[in-house]
Amino acid sequence: LSSVNKTYKQGSENYQVLFDINLKIAQGEFVAIMGPSGSGKSTLIDIIGFLDQKFEGKYTFDNVVVSNLNRREHAKLRNRSVGFVFQNFKLINNQNVGENVGLPLLYSGAKRRDIMARVNEVLDQVGLEGSYRKMPKNLSGGQQQRVAIARAIVSKPSFLVADEPTGALDSATSKEIMKLFKELNQSGTTVIMVTHDEKVANQANRLVKILDGRIQSDSEVEHANS
Ligand code: ATP
Ligand code: MG
Repeated sequence: LSSVNKTYKQGSENYQVLFDINLKIAQGEFVAIMGPSGSGKSTLIDIIGFLDQKFEGKYTFDNVVVSNLNRREHAKLRNRSVGFVFQNFKLINNQNVGENVGLPLLYSGAKRRDIMARVNEVLDQVGLEGSYRKMPKNLSGGQQQRVAIARAIVSKPSFLVADEPTGALDSATSKEIMKLFKELNQSGTTVIMVTHDEKVANQANRLVKILDGRIQSDSEVEHANS
């Protein structure tokens, strides 16, 4: 992102929420974005994840100038490149775990048999082997978030975007979910995560702090060797 500004329009009022954001993230990084409520974290991560195209400045992804794409191209890039994880899981409650996880593949036109195989593979990866036919409502919060993470990685996206993925979980469960994100990152997935929780942020390799819509600091996270 180069000199990115974001302004929301409310009636005749303009309300600027991001100011001169310059941010370069490399493949394989694990970045945490922290800041107070209302500081612009979700706004920023929505731009990064190709959910929001209405901003000023330049966004380049993989040598493509994202800010120049039309809406269709932008949506296509999103579907092809990003996996999303949210605070409240956003699972489809009347579909079973396997159907939820396989949804992105179904949309991309994959064959049923290939979908089943890949879904079982990612369920194994997130520690939910054998849960294909369970319903989301019968799972714990941590398990539901694992389902959401499985769905986010099922199409092998270039990067994962997670907005407060542990915000609805107790601290022990948060720890487990962070362990999973770490494993995914160590096996090559780029992770960009918004969090309020310093303990969660310290699991990342890089910490970007936002204050009032501006990057306040951007530094490597020191990990104690224990
Ligand atoms: P939180 O930690 O509470 O999730 P955040 O850092 O994610 O906060 P944002 O959701 O990015 O903050 O919001 C940044 C600012 O933009 C806030 O002042 C918010 O009220 C405003 N804002 C967010 N979305 C909109 C919108 N659709 N229209 C107008 N203003 C908005
Ligand atoms: Mg937010």
